[in-house]
Amino acid sequence: MLSTSTTSETPPGFRFHPNAYDLGAFESAAGTCEACGKGRTLRYTGSFYSVDEVDYICPWCVADGTAARVFDGEFSDYTGIDGVSPDPRVPADVDLDEAMEVSTRTPSYSSWQQEQWRSHCGRPCAFIGDIGASGLTDYLDEPDFAADVDGGLGWEASLLRTRLSEGGDLAGYLFRCLTCGAHRLHVDAS
Ligand SMILES: [Zn+2]
Ligand SMILES: [Zn+2]
Repeated sequence: MLSTSTTSETPPGFRFHPNAYDLGAFESAAGTCEACGKGRTLRYTGSFYSVDEVDYICPWCVADGTAARVFDGEFSDYTGIDGVSPDPRVPADVDLDEAMEVSTRTPSYSSWQQEQWRSHCGRPCAFIGDIGASGLTDYLDEPDFAADVDGGLGWEASLLRTRLSEGGDLAGYLFRCLTCGAHRLHVDAS
């Protein structure tokens, strides 16, 4: 079978960002992908760190690493993934192939500061979506999530429990471990 890339193809999924389409990582926009040169209808909207200004990246070129390779770029900061050490002499505490997949083959999520990516069980987690104060209670029976809320991230628990909001000035981001299903929290402020 010849494989042809047409705009009627089902776009690829992302195991580390399973809700990427629902969360607006791509928008409907006709154009030509600058990585593969094909006419596409879905344009990546998130961050992409490269020397070149790149305007149009299609989901296929995010998923198969073409965009990262062609433009020598990354979607999320590799050293912002829990367990990746910025110092190469310090051993990593996370699967580095999977960390590379998060950085170069996974859409980033929208945040105030440079993305941070939570890890668990020695693997990067999947980013699930935004979370506010009222959503925290769903996961507080999980010890690692409770530790994130109770000062583990450097934020006061009382502040997070009252002021955390989805996409607000004090924004919460929910992650889930692909191995054990445990949840993790990331918080940043505008
Ligand atoms: Zn493309
Ligand atoms: Zn886990």
